[in-house]
Amino acid sequence: MIKVVKFGGSSLASAEQFKKVGDIIRAEDSRRFVVPSAPGKRFSDDTKVTDMLYACYDLAAKGKNFDEQFEKIKERYLEIIEGLGLDLSLDEQFNIIKACFIGKAGRDYAASRGEFLNGIVMSNYLGYEFIDAADVIFFTDSGEFDAEKTDAAMKERLDGIERAVIPGFYGSMPNDTIKTFSRGGSDITGSIVAAAVGADIYENWTDVSGFLISDPRIIKDPLPIHTITYKELRELSYMGAGVLHEDAIFPVRKAGIPINIKNTNSPMDPGTMIVESTSQKPQFTITGIAGKKGFTVVNIEKDMMNSELGFGRRVLEVFEKNGLSFEHMPSGIDTMSVIVHQSEFEPKEQEVLSGLHRNVHPDSIDIETDLALIAVVGRAMKSNRGTAGRIFSALAHAHVNVKMIDQGSSELNIIIGVSESDFEAAIKSIYEIFVIHQL
Ligand code: ADP
Ligand code: ASP
Ligand code: MG
Repeated sequence: MIKVVKFGGSSLASAEQFKKVGDIIRAEDSRRFVVPSAPGKRFSDDTKVTDMLYACYDLAAKGKNFDEQFEKIKERYLEIIEGLGLDLSLDEQFNIIKACFIGKAGRDYAASRGEFLNGIVMSNYLGYEFIDAADVIFFTDSGEFDAEKTDAAMKERLDGIERAVIPGFYGSMPNDTIKTFSRGGSDITGSIVAAAVGADIYENWTDVSGFLISDPRIIKDPLPIHTITYKELRELSYMGAGVLHEDAIFPVRKAGIPINIKNTNSPMDPGTMIVESTSQKPQFTITGIAGKKGFTVVNIEKDMMNSELGFGRRVLEVFEKNGLSFEHMPSGIDTMSVIVHQSEFEPKEQEVLSGLHRNVHPDSIDIETDLALIAVVGRAMKSNRGTAGRIFSALAHAHVNVKMIDQGSSELNIIIGVSESDFEAAIKSIYEIFVIHQL
């Protein structure tokens, strides 16, 4: 039995947390490959080491003095090393990192040092071999993750190795510079390692007892989801449920390895199993709810647009030419709406508008900002009639005005657009009707 275990930032924020992690790893012989994040927050308004590194490097890149910020980062590691009573000095590493900051080695390099250093601390603490992710995780020249090269190198490097620590979040480019995944990317590293060693399970340890039905920052103590499919999870994580990086499922999914989300602070809780498919009936009609703010809707009106061949294509062509991807495109007979990310759309707004006028000669275009999208996801929705109706009555009851609705053709999700000010109330009312009322 092989388990790959990834620990998130809050699980490694202090020596005390490290000890919990050590106990978890030592409790099972099968926990042979460990992927650590950088130290995260120790308390709610603390700063993650990754964010400290970005800020510190930004000073360095402007040629400003960054000594004070650098010392604070050092202190975070010293506190852990001393708290664990380790015989380890990171002085040499810090000297190299400082020189690289001065030499402007790049923001990705800077951020990656958080997991690099934590990997060294972890390997010293556990007595496991340290493997630099730069030697086993690769990106292409264009910055895409190079799955093939990585898998081959990782397999070769780990062959015959009993136990190792591989830091999360980064890898290297063909020119040997360091590149990171997007934020939260240590989840991806864990998944890559799990696939390469043919793990029986990928355990992802965090600070909540599994994937919760909704965001605990919106719903107080939401219930955990026992079992969720990869597809459902992807819908939820794409729509903002930040527990697991949305790309983390791909490597393990290909290899048929389940993911178990577990709580470092409550290791006996079963957590959430993420699987390819399951015969297990979900406890509720919906599996989860997630949502994101920051969308803009471009509403295009033109009489008889439905009979105009190629209308949709010409609309989307304008967005494509401006480098904008769209999230959703609900349409009526004489209307079509394109939903885009507000931050991406704003700087290109006028180009898009004039492009649309040129391309499709609409009767009118109207722009609505500050839209939030909410995804209600569940494999059981298909076989339960009236789900959409129940969502609407819950929203009406909470006086939330629904601006848009879009049901995925797989019937796995319903997307609802509401104004940002209604976001929290909308999620609460959906949780209430499908979870609280069903208990
Ligand atoms: P880690 O540092 O362990 O990678 P993250 O901060 O990336 O942890 O993810 C865990 C956090 O995700 C939780 O503390 C919680 O605040 C947040 N979160 C958002 N949506 C959900 C959800 N549906 N279920 C569980 N946690 C969620
Ligand atoms: N430390 C990185 C971040 O804060 C990566 C991770 O935690 O997964 O985004
Ligand atoms: Mg994370």
